[in-house]
Amino acid sequence: MVEFDSFGPEKIFEVYNAKVGMHGFVVVDNTALGPGKGGIRMTPTVSIQEVSRLARAMTWKCALADLPFGGAKSGIIADDRQISPQRKQEIIRAFAEAIRPVCPKYYIAGPDMNMAEEDMRTFAQANGSWKSCTGKPADLCVRPGEKCGIPHEYGSTGFGVFHAARVALEQAGKDMRGTTVAIEGMGNVGTFAAKYFSEAGARVIAASDSRGLLVDPRGLDVPKLLQVKQKAGTVTQYGAGKVLPSKDIVGVQADVLVTAAVPDLITAHNVDQVRAKLVVEGSNIPMTPELEGHLHQKGILVVPDFVANAGGVISSYAEYRGQNPQQMFKLVERKITANTAIVLERSQKRGTKPRDAALEIARDRVIRKCKTCRIDLPASG
Ligand code: NAD
Repeated sequence: MVEFDSFGPEKIFEVYNAKVGMHGFVVVDNTALGPGKGGIRMTPTVSIQEVSRLARAMTWKCALADLPFGGAKSGIIADDRQISPQRKQEIIRAFAEAIRPVCPKYYIAGPDMNMAEEDMRTFAQANGSWKSCTGKPADLCVRPGEKCGIPHEYGSTGFGVFHAARVALEQAGKDMRGTTVAIEGMGNVGTFAAKYFSEAGARVIAASDSRGLLVDPRGLDVPKLLQVKQKAGTVTQYGAGKVLPSKDIVGVQADVLVTAAVPDLITAHNVDQVRAKLVVEGSNIPMTPELEGHLHQKGILVVPDFVANAGGVISSYAEYRGQNPQQMFKLVERKITANTAIVLERSQKRGTKPRDAALEIARDRVIRKCKTCRIDLPASG
């Protein structure tokens, strides 16, 4: 069962193409602030229920990011490891054609699980509108060299995660220079976060990936670390420091812990191992809201995922507006800085945890533009 409340979902659109074997859906949660934004998830088990929850999370994320986008998400039921690349493209084309009645008017797509930038090229071309999706390749332009795609590979999310941490440190009266940082995950988000922290003078002392955790309290040479990760496929081949199991990142003695890999990294069993004074959630749901509350009680500041990792969706908006990458980075910095600051200020003023303050701000922004949304309903997401 899909859960409804006065915020949404406004539309659920289910599409089939029997000839191609395509079955997908779009959930448009709320469009009070603008067309619903959210990626396309391709997995064998994706369901309308799962997509509805993700669409609601996008409503809050876009509102908190202060973008003229609502929340939405879509799913295509397919196992991309079991089908040929050609068949995957056929399915994406059929999906893009089938959802034209809602896309891009009510829904703007983007990459999500098993959907990358080349899939966005296929999607946009089949849909027929350049605005139908974001995360397109940089060579897909409205005119040659003008209004081009901005792929996620530019690192907007890691850049935003760094700025969220910078604002939190500034508010706590701490200097970025010399601050020690531990980063979980060295993928798109983690590598760019590491780069920006080290360029700003912070000391990255720990980095993990699926094969292990590398720790050196003297500080890691980040350009070398990124080279090792790229060449050897793992940070554990760095050649100095200590190598430990990946999960030990939680207890590293660093000022800042950045999560950038798996959900539920922090659990009821390891929450009390956290030594950092600031946790910045680059990954989605690295712990439950209850565990965030527990850390809040202990005086550990947690910048929640939908505040800290909104760089990607802000970049999507820049692309949608036809901005270039330089303009996009400026926009990400400006919005992440402003939004992190107001969330942390409200949290301090009211004594609530940052997630609750952020949800209140996001909900207020939607309610201001939504005649039918009722304030008495609890925010979830
Ligand atoms: P990615 O696939 O590029 O990288 C994931 C990294 O995590 C890899 O380095 C992998 O080795 C590592 N990893 C896997 N298991 C691990 C483990 N047990 N311990 C430590 N590291 C492990 O993914 P990404 O795009 O960097 O995304 C990371 C997280 O951030 C996800 O939760 C994603 O949903 C979230 N996120 C990403 C973006 C974005 O723009 N990329 C935006 C918002 C949120």
